Amino acid sequence: MDCCICSPMATMYRLPRNTVCAPCHEGAKAIIGFLNKDEQEGDGCLLYTSRCGLRDAWEQVKEMRDREENTNQRAAFLEQGFALAWREGIHTDIFIKPGTGAPIPAHKAILAARSEVFRHMLSADDRCKAPAGDSISLPELSHDELSLLIAFLYTGALDQGLPERHLHALLVAADKYDVPFLRRACEARLAAAVDPRNVLRTLEVAELSSSAVLRERAMDTVVEHAEQVVFSPQYEEFAVRNAGLCVEITRALLAKMSTTRTKAPCIEDV
Ligand SMILES: [Zn+2]
Repeated sequence: MDCCICSPMATMYRLPRNTVCAPCHEGAKAIIGFLNKDEQEGDGCLLYTSRCGLRDAWEQVKEMRDREENTNQRAAFLEQGFALAWREGIHTDIFIKPGTGAPIPAHKAILAARSEVFRHMLSADDRCKAPAGDSISLPELSHDELSLLIAFLYTGALDQGLPERHLHALLVAADKYDVPFLRRACEARLAAAVDPRNVLRTLEVAELSSSAVLRERAMDTVVEHAEQVVFSPQYEEFAVRNAGLCVEITRALLAKMSTTRTKAPCIEDV
């Protein structure tokens, strides 16, 4: 069938309008449905696209594209300015000491604006009359991890391809210093990378950082690949350190077994 929308013929001739292929028909319905839903969620009223069709839907898509472009430009403007201030050490007023390696200069105002915990730490310093330009210590982080944390506070971005151990450290730091945006970024990266080989460490980190989302994802992976995980050499060490999690794993496995048994057809049913 020559579709009047996507067929190569449609670019040259005006084909009969009632010949629309199934993908175009489904796609058009989905776009209008999506935009209506978007509009309902936005201000609670139903949009006109359902009455006026795809032409108005297209106009709305163009508006969305313009808004996205503006937002990207604004984000880039803010990110570049803050990143430059940090990278070039412009008027920094505090040193942050990692557990290992050299201290990193930063700005008190940025730390306080991004984290309530830092704000309290810094205002406690003010009350105690700590010398100006003094330092704070984050001994649980290595120099590289601290550098990534501070970079995120300035730019809101995580480098692509960060090793898992850095993401683990950043997630724990996001929890400790109360930076929800960093927490979500780390959770998303780690959840996407969970597999039977790294799941035990991921589960430990999820527990340590009180990350319910990551914990659930990791627990599902343990249950799904139970044999590979529970008989792995790492499981014994994990069990020594995490008795509570092992109890949960056992319960989750038993719950899965009983569900599987319930779903299995009885001989009489066959
Ligand atoms: Zn088509």
